[in-house]
Amino acid sequence: MLFIIFVIFTPIVVWLILHLMSRRKASEEVTEPGALLELCAICQNEFTMTELLEKEVGGYGRVYCFCGQCIENLYNEYRNTIDIKTGE
Ligand SMILES: [Zn+2]
Repeated sequence: MLFIIFVIFTPIVVWLILHLMSRRKASEEVTEPGALLELCAICQNEFTMTELLEKEVGGYGRVYCFCGQCIENLYNEYRNTIDIKTGE
């Protein structure tokens, strides 16, 4: 008799534990890190981490974030100064 109870209840208990664990996992996925907003170090606008480039600046391990628009502006600025200096 005790063996029958054991055989019936063990899968139920295991299933319940697995079910609770999967539910906890699902609720953790709701607070995804992709929704976090960071400031661009140059224009100070807020962007999600997927839109920013993280770069370690200087020797102190300080990490700054740069948005695509600022990187493009810097690149264009750099191209312009190089062109002026080389006389093109
Ligand atoms: Zn920016």
